[in-house]
Amino acid sequence: MPSSEITPVQFRDNNGKAADGKLYTTVYASGDRMRRALLRLFLSWGLAGVSLFIPLAHFVLVPGFLIAGPVLAVMVYRGTQARDRAEGECPVCGERISIKLEAGDEIPKWTYCPACNAALQITESN
Ligand SMILES: [Zn+2]
Repeated sequence: MPSSEITPVQFRDNNGKAADGKLYTTVYASGDRMRRALLRLFLSWGLAGVSLFIPLAHFVLVPGFLIAGPVLAVMVYRGTQARDRAEGECPVCGERISIKLEAGDEIPKWTYCPACNAALQITESN
């Protein structure tokens, strides 16, 4: 089972004003990574099999999916964690905010407050 990890972060605005927040990260164990990788591999190869029956397009789609399968699987297997979201208080407007993050996002990261649209930097808490 993937586990969720919560780490303390800070939200900073342009003037250096900071507020505490929490960063939620999903951490994948070795078994999860293998399962996720195999799922992508077989899904991609399954799509290659289905696209065999599409006239003309199968000249591109079949080799494309056959190659994409192992490439996707290796990319997914290498990913040990996925950023989920950052929650906390905006240092500018004081609203409670939750910012959705992309799986590959790295901290520190610049983003915008969903409530007041101020530029915020998510940094590690020290
Ligand atoms: Zn705000």
